[in-house]
Amino acid sequence: MRIVFIGPPGAGKGTQAERLIETYHLAHLSTGDMLRAARDARTEVGQKADQYMSRGELVPDDIIVEIIRQRLDRPDCREGYLLDGFPRTIAQAESLDKMLNTKGTPLDVVLEIRVPEEELFRRLAGRGRADDQPEVIRQRLVAYRKQTEPLLEYYGKQGLLNSVDGLGSVDDIFARLRTVLDRQPK
Ligand code: ADP
Repeated sequence: MRIVFIGPPGAGKGTQAERLIETYHLAHLSTGDMLRAARDARTEVGQKADQYMSRGELVPDDIIVEIIRQRLDRPDCREGYLLDGFPRTIAQAESLDKMLNTKGTPLDVVLEIRVPEEELFRRLAGRGRADDQPEVIRQRLVAYRKQTEPLLEYYGKQGLLNSVDGLGSVDDIFARLRTVLDRQPK
């Protein structure tokens, strides 16, 4: 299965992604993880990306699209993957559609985890990541609302969007996600 996983910062996507990739044998394509690795390895792309990440802004589309293009060519993506944190803008989604249409491997499903904003703020304030400072958190939520939420309509129109409630225990939410995936045609 080829899956796009969407949710605001703090929705619990990372935790659920770990379970999903194990249960469904998917490659995990987390752009946040890729960018943090590039930053820590001090590559040119990583250092450029860090200027945006540290402010809670999205890195430019051309950088991230190129990273994904290369990643999707790797053999572990053949059996299916979970795109986690990508696409995050309409332009990224359109680039992805083009890439996948060229390969003849369209997306199967888009999963959204929904969590009310007050709860997100509460959860993020309790983490310890470098971009979890209050002002940076606020900026990441703003970026989500403005740039990423339009994807819900984009994928809704394609008939791919499935939203699950992100409140409850990790097990509850995982069960909701499984319900969606288990009814996809094999
Ligand atoms: P979160 O979803 O908790 O904000 P991520 O780990 O997904 O965190 O991303 C961290 C940061 O990496 C983002 O705030 C952004 O700067 C950058 N980033 C990750 N994915 C993308 C993307 N698809 N497009 C642009 N920037 C991205």
